[in-house]
Amino acid sequence: MARVFNFSAGPAALPEEVLKQAADEMLDWHGSGQSVMEMSHRGKDFIAIADACEADLRELMGIPANYKVLFLQGGASLQFEMIPINLLRGKASADYVHTGEWAKKAIKAAKKFGNVNVVASAEDKSFTYAPAQSTWKLDKDAAYVHYTANETIGGVEFQWTPETGEVPLVCDMSSSILSRVFDVSKFGLIYAGAQKNIGPAGLTIVIIREDLVGKGQPTPPAMMDYKTHVDAASMYNTPPTFGIYVAGLVFQWLKKNGGIAAMEQKNIEKANLLYNYLETTDFYHNPVNKADRSRMNVPFTLKDATLDEEFLKGAKARGMVQLKGHRSVGGMRASIYNAMPVEGVQALLAYMKEFAAQKG
Ligand SMILES: *Cc1c(COP(=O)(O)O)cnc(C)c1O
Repeated sequence: MARVFNFSAGPAALPEEVLKQAADEMLDWHGSGQSVMEMSHRGKDFIAIADACEADLRELMGIPANYKVLFLQGGASLQFEMIPINLLRGKASADYVHTGEWAKKAIKAAKKFGNVNVVASAEDKSFTYAPAQSTWKLDKDAAYVHYTANETIGGVEFQWTPETGEVPLVCDMSSSILSRVFDVSKFGLIYAGAQKNIGPAGLTIVIIREDLVGKGQPTPPAMMDYKTHVDAASMYNTPPTFGIYVAGLVFQWLKKNGGIAAMEQKNIEKANLLYNYLETTDFYHNPVNKADRSRMNVPFTLKDATLDEEFLKGAKARGMVQLKGHRSVGGMRASIYNAMPVEGVQALLAYMKEFAAQKG
């Protein structure tokens, strides 16, 4: 069986080792005679899996003790609503930084629940850069400041963490969590859908500072109240058990491979392979400001868009799939999360050069 190099933005590639282990354990997890999918979420086997998953994530990210880790469902999209519902806390408004498609959705969702101040926007340059903090018009009385650490569609990533003083910093980290070192203590809340850089779709991770829990005004619906999930240790209702299990295997894989700092070095190396080449050619083009280029999602267009289909077909024939760009951007996008080996990026690079030499 030949596995492809999968450049999908999400659901995305998982480490082959993890998939093999999950396959090996599929019918009989550790002598229990059953699959993790079939276990009670309240039984001791699954509780041990969930506890190890959380402990490993805490260790990998250095999550301080005054933060809760939640394993939820509903994707990052549900967080777009849970955040204002829980964190506005009766305050007049929240600050949002507008950097592209995902920020736009977060802003739209928040507007249903309160006043949103867009304190910085990259719209003037078609969302091809991350606005410098010196340009942000922050409100010191804002309920929180929300930004998108990596715009998965536009390929724009903050290479720095904003400073927001006493105002809680809220981050959509869906496509860059675990890809680089973050200082969790700088954030009030971090959220991420699992399907980009953690595990299977259906699991959402929320990391929330304790003092922000249980502050929704009025009290949110139970399933949308962080306090419900904190009080029940993410087991208020049936959690996404298989997703938690696979995420736990990914965390063990990360630990075995040197943790996040080592992963970050690899991700820099992979991204540089593509960007360094993109700078030398006018056959392909990446529109993003150099300092803000995403290490995770590398969008590029071909000089001649009529060659797009042929490029994709040739890639597929060479075992490289899901390179088609997002419909709102066009062209191509190579998503190169943690699980993409450097060999996959090298194969793509070789193909891009070959294609350009033939058609250029
Ligand atoms: C994929 C993605 C989302 C949406 O995630 P869902 O889990 O599908 O709701 C939100 N934000 C970012 C940055 C993403 O990459």
